Parts: sequence; C-alpha cells; structure tokens
Amino acid sequence: MKELTYFNGEFVEPGAKCVSLDDRGYCFGDGVYEVTRVFNGRCFAFSYHQDRLYRSMRFMDIPVKMPPEDLQELHEIMIEQSGITDGYIYLQITRGVEPRHHAYDRAKLEPTMYMYIRPIKEDLSKLGDGVKAISLPDERWHHVDIKTLNLIPNILAQTKAEKKFAYSAVLFRDGICTEGATSNVFAVKDGILYTHPADELILKGITRQLVVTRVAPTAGVSLIEKEFDREFVDNADELFFTDTIGGIIPIIKLDRQPVGNGNVGPVTMKLRDGYEKLLAEGLA
Ligand code: PMP
Repeated sequence: MKELTYFNGEFVEPGAKCVSLDDRGYCFGDGVYEVTRVFNGRCFAFSYHQDRLYRSMRFMDIPVKMPPEDLQELHEIMIEQSGITDGYIYLQITRGVEPRHHAYDRAKLEPTMYMYIRPIKEDLSKLGDGVKAISLPDERWHHVDIKTLNLIPNILAQTKAEKKFAYSAVLFRDGICTEGATSNVFAVKDGILYTHPADELILKGITRQLVVTRVAPTAGVSLIEKEFDREFVDNADELFFTDTIGGIIPIIKLDRQPVGNGNVGPVTMKLRDGYEKLLAEGLA
C-alpha cells in the first residue's frame, strides 16, 4: 500500500515541487476541489462528487478538460495502483498559470490538476462516541455552495475550535445555524430531523444529501430543511455533523453545555447505522 500523487497527467513523488509560482491556485486560491471517500477499494458516491465538481467549475468559469469517464477511470487507477482500500482521494483543479493579475483570460489558461490518494489513519469509529464543538460566527462569503480553495474563514474557525480541544465549530450567520467549519449540521427535536436548506449559504455536502435522500427515509425519520436559530440549537435533543470522512458525527457538547442529555441520541445512532450500511454496500 502506498500513497500516490498525480500532477497534470503524471504520477509524481508526494510533495514534489512542480507547481509554478504563478499558478492562480497558489496566488489567489483560484480553484476548486473535491474529497471522495474510498471504502472497500471503491469510490463511494463518486457520481455525486463528480456532479458537484463540474457545478463548481461551471460557476468558476474553469473549463473542463477531462471528461467524466476519464476522471472516474483516473480515480479507479489511483485506487488500484496504490492498493489503498480505506482512504480518500483529494482532487484539486486550479485556473492555471499566468502572471499575477486579478482578471483572467480564459482562452490563454490551461487548468492545473493535482490529486492524491491517502489512507485513513485515524480510528473513525471513535467519532461514534460523540465530539465536543464550539459555536462561532460564520464569516464566509455568500457563495459557500461552491467548493473553492478559498477556505480562510473555515481554517480560522477550525483552528479556534481545535485550540479549545473541540472537534470542530458550529457556525451561525445572523443568528441562524448554517453548517460546521468543515461539515454540515443537523439537529433533532422531538424525533424530527432539521438541517439548513441547501442554498448558497451552505455547502451541499454529499453526506448531507445522502442523509436527506436515503438514510433518513430508510430509517423512517422525518426531515425538515429549514433555517433554525441558536435557541433551537440550545434546545435540540441531538446534534450531529456530517462529512465525507467522518460520516455522521454526534455532537454531545456545544460550548461546554451538554447537547440533550449529553449522550449520543437514538436518532443519531439509527442514522449512523444506516449510513454505515450504505457505505458498506457502496454507491456509484
Ligand atoms: N461543509 C463544509 C464547509 C465542508 O468543508 C464539508 C466537507 N468537508 C462539508 C460541508 C461536508 O461535505 P461532504 O459531505 O461532501 O464531505
């Protein structure tokens, strides 16, 4: 088993110095990315990640140079050649190389593509015991539905959380709970599941999407996509984060206060089981 790194059409050594200093990704964070889970030697929910990648690229006006079949094949080759069966693939596409100037000339630019596959080293099952979180203001721009490389507010929020020994931060914009610093957020109240609508103020997480469309319906849990505020969060019976790597991550403390009775709740547990089953079955 070995980590593999891909850069513009070839495999290179991890950390190889091959990026131009004038790459717009390096200078401006002018690019998009995806993170896809590899489980049982297969990409999980690849088509969902691919759709989101192409949507991000359309919004950013970055031309698609690699057709969907080739992109999928490249993911499969990376899994096969690395021998990694439980891990993730990071994919980054920047606008390309050009002397630094804010406006870009689409016709002159060739996007830069960087990917790697790495194993998951942490014991993810520990997350099932629940994590601590802190709340922070959501200071991001108004298009966080686009998965761009510009993650400064997320980076600062996540660092503040980790400095306080929390797993992550729950973000609030104008009093409304939007999502986590690196994940989406769900609340449970009286057996009903709530999450922020998938508009431009949250990233439409793939895990979120799978909980909404598959896991909650299969588990017989009703779901409402609507905005909710701090008071609602403070009175929630259960809270959890969702993301590609951790899946469904119960939050048992927020700002040092127990969530519900301070234990992982029954709805979260049921959904976690359902999500793990889906992950084991695999999804195209
Ligand atoms: N929101 C943010 C801000 C994220 O960075 C992520 C991914 N880490 C998510 C939500 C979850 O998205 P996904 O389920 O597709 O990993």
